[in-house]
Amino acid sequence: MMIALFATEPPLGTRILLDDQPYELVEAEPYTRKSDGKPSRLLTWETCCPTEGCGTSFRVTTGLSVTTLNRRCEGHRFTALRTKPVKGRRGRKVRVRVELP
Ligand SMILES: [Zn+2]
Repeated sequence: MMIALFATEPPLGTRILLDDQPYELVEAEPYTRKSDGKPSRLLTWETCCPTEGCGTSFRVTTGLSVTTLNRRCEGHRFTALRTKPVKGRRGRKVRVRVELP
């Protein structure tokens, strides 16, 4: 999925909103692309974990083409994906929980 594609370095403070989750550009560094050795930019975005009661701010880095952005902090990234209600035999909803160490 292509979220955003910047032709040139966006100014600091640029925001990307994914649904209602804002990502704010806090750092942009020159960077040499490994694939073809061309100069590019490494963009650092700051956002807050949307998990209820968390709100931890964390950073994600992308290139000028933004294809993926983590929605949640390190601690919630995996549990959130796996915590889905699953229907049991009698139609009873079973909540599957995965706990990290
Ligand atoms: Zn979190």
